[in-house]
This record gives sequence, structure tokens and C-alpha cells, in this order.
Amino acid sequence: MAEPIGVPISPEFVAKYNKPGPRYTSYPTVPAWKQAFGEAEYREALDELKGRPDDELAVYLHVPFCAKACHYCGCNMLVTRDKDEVTAYLDRLETELGRVVDVIGSGRRVVQFHWGGGTPNYLKNDQIERVLAMFRAAFAIAPGAEVSLEIDPRIGSPEQARFLREAGFNRISLGVQDFEPRVQQAIGRRQSRDKTLEVYHGCREAGFPGVNIDLVYGLPGQTRESFGETLDEVIGLAPDRVACFSYAHVPWVRPNQEKVDTTIMLQGYEKFALFQLTVDRFREGGYAWIGIDHFAKQDDELSVALRDRALHRNFMGYATKPAPHMLAFGMSGIGDVCDRFVQNDATIDGWSQLVDAGGLPIVKGHKLSDDDKLRRLAILNLMCNLELPWELTVAGWGERADRLFADSLEQLPPLIADGLVTRDDFGLRITAKGRYFVRNVAMILDAYLAQDTGKPLFSRTV
Ligand code: SF4
Repeated sequence: MAEPIGVPISPEFVAKYNKPGPRYTSYPTVPAWKQAFGEAEYREALDELKGRPDDELAVYLHVPFCAKACHYCGCNMLVTRDKDEVTAYLDRLETELGRVVDVIGSGRRVVQFHWGGGTPNYLKNDQIERVLAMFRAAFAIAPGAEVSLEIDPRIGSPEQARFLREAGFNRISLGVQDFEPRVQQAIGRRQSRDKTLEVYHGCREAGFPGVNIDLVYGLPGQTRESFGETLDEVIGLAPDRVACFSYAHVPWVRPNQEKVDTTIMLQGYEKFALFQLTVDRFREGGYAWIGIDHFAKQDDELSVALRDRALHRNFMGYATKPAPHMLAFGMSGIGDVCDRFVQNDATIDGWSQLVDAGGLPIVKGHKLSDDDKLRRLAILNLMCNLELPWELTVAGWGERADRLFADSLEQLPPLIADGLVTRDDFGLRITAKGRYFVRNVAMILDAYLAQDTGKPLFSRTV
């Protein structure tokens, strides 16, 4: 059933549900992971992976470099203009990759290979070729695999787009955030419209089958009118997908965000209204609303996967290529291997020292318990398919989800009364109103949220 466009939601209602909460790119979420999980535990997971040679893989590569820091940045990035620092990073990356391949063997089939950052197109063409060659020697990138990267149009060009397409990338994401110069000034990221359009059209002319645009709502200086213009302009370009992320203002985690002028930032209901505007404009423009914050053309693989209930969510966001494991390389990389989450050291010095010391640069992780796996399945179903069928758990756990989650579901009646979710013999279904608050519904199944650590961990759900 298609949801109506423009669901009315009051400011009081938004205030009630605007609370800190995870985005659930994993469950359990990173704050629940333990520092005590390290290299030995990761090697155990890789050993297990070696024993499952037919399992397909997703691979994430972190390229941390940026020429200049944006005030709003929430990424693990590194400002450098030092060519030797980049070369040293790639040398260590090769070492890290070699150590993993020494355990699992080479030639494993990869169905999703994503480069994130930082700014992957900060690398020069010869450096990109070098990295591609090392990963192609280590893995068998499957025909039809998604090979994608994020780029900063400010340092891109049509020539670079052509090079990337010829090198084998088939999906490209352009960081746009907002076209409005006043907003760009406020976030410390001047990006001319002409440059963005030149690179966007360059990607199209280079023949990328998938071109994405990333936007951010809730940035300083944004108004409903100005952001509406950015949305109209983006829809006019007709990208295959758009991700419109909520700006997470977490200066206690990202001190660079202290530079963000919060006095000119829409918050609470006004910020929520920006996202409602986004949803309405993209749906009127013919896009499908995917999960919580993605939009895709109706014939895009993401829309097809949504209709087929085959959508997946991992650390890279929404995905169509289901891979049971994800290997991550580079500083701060987060992997998911044989039911263990693992994270590399998020600092360049820490990651480099661990690689130089002869080991794998893991600093934290988590081995999923059976209860974690069960809740992960349920939460990811809500985040992707907007439902939790009671039968979902029968095959794996021999019991219906409503019985397994009986305790958690005791928190459901207020959410049902508020019209966010319905419950019947089939299971739970997120309503048209509840689509804006899926994270709040998923939170009732999260066994770790009750454990108050005394420090703020998450951004707000709105
Ligand atoms: S927002 Fe992107 S380009 Fe800006 S500093 Fe962060 S990673 Fe670099």
C-alpha cells in the first residue's frame, strides 16, 4: 500500500519522539562493543571464514584524506597535503590486506566493494590503480558486483569520472549536501553549483550505471525555502539514488562541530519539517522512499529490492547485494565477519602503529550472542522492510517472534496508540506516520539501550 504524501504530524508529536537513538547500521550498535575484543578474536573470526569458502563477501575500504575539514564533518578523516603520508597509508593498507588474505586465502568472491572516506577521489589516478590492483589480486570481484565510491565534486572532474568508470567503478556518490551558498559558508564547504553540475554530468557521460547524490538536512543556515530549491534542483538532475542524511550534531564526539553556529540551525519540529519536505518532494518526483533516509528511482535496484523484500542494511547503509560478511580495511574500518563486529583503530597514528607492529589493527569488536542475532534480524527487518512478521524467526529459532520478544513488545501499546505501528496476526507493520519514526520503534527491541553509561551516545532521532 502506498503511503499518502504529506502525513500531518504536530510539533508536540515530534517533540515526544525526538530522543537520542541509534541509526541501526548494525545491532548491537558500536557503543555496546567492548575494547577487550581485539586481534585474537578477529583472527578467530577469519579462521572461521576460511572454513566457509563459498560465502560471498562485501569489502569496505576507508580512504581518510581530505584537503580541508568541513565544520559539520562526522567522518573519520585526515587533512593532509603531504604526498608521502598518502603513500605510507597505501603501503600499510597493502600490508593489512596481505595479513587478512594470509588467513582466509586469496580469490574469495566479492559482490560489493565500496570506497568511503574521507574523500576517495583525493587519491591520484595512479594511486587508485595501485589500490584496485592490490584488491583485485586479493579477491575475485564477481561479475555484476557493485564497485562504488564516494567523491567530493570540488576536487573531481569529467576526466576523473571517465577514469574511474574505465577503472571499473560502476556506482558513484557525489557529496552535495546543499546548493545554497549561505549554507555552504556556514558549514565551511564552498562548492560552486557549476562545479557540482560539471562533475555530475561528467559521471553521466562517463556511463556510470548508478549515480547517487548525498544531501544533509538540519545544517546551519538552511531554511525550508532554500532547501526546497536544493531538492528541486537535485530532482531535476534525476540521479538514480539520493541519500538525505540528518545532520548529527555531536560535538562531544566530533570537536570540529564546535564551529557550527547552532543559532542558525533548524531543530526539533522545524528540522523534522525539512525532512518531511524532502520525502514529499522526492515522492512527487517519482522516487521511492527507501528505509529511513534514501530515495531511489522506481527501476533502481534499491526500489526493486524494497518491493521484493530483499533490501539489506549494513555499515555502508542500504544495500542490494546480500553478503554474509564484510571485511573492512584502513583506519576506522568496521567489519562484520562470522557474527563478530570488528573496528580498526580510528586514528591514523594508532592504526599505523598497529600495522607496523606486525598485527591486525583491531581495537574493538563484539561477538554476537544468539539473543543479539535474533534482535538484529528483527531490527533490520523493521529498518528495511518496515515490518516484523511473527513467522520471521520460526526457521532459525523454532519460535514466533511475538513469543520470543514478548517482554520487549510490552513497550508497544503507546506506539500503537500513537499510530506509529500496527499489530495483527501477521506481525508488526510500520504505518505511514511511523515511517518517520522507525528508529523509535526499533529501539523497543534493543536490549542494550537500557544500560545507561552516563554519557551521551547517539544523535537524536529527528
Ligand atoms: S565532510 Fe567529507 S569532505 Fe568534508 S571533511 Fe568530512 S569527509 Fe572530508
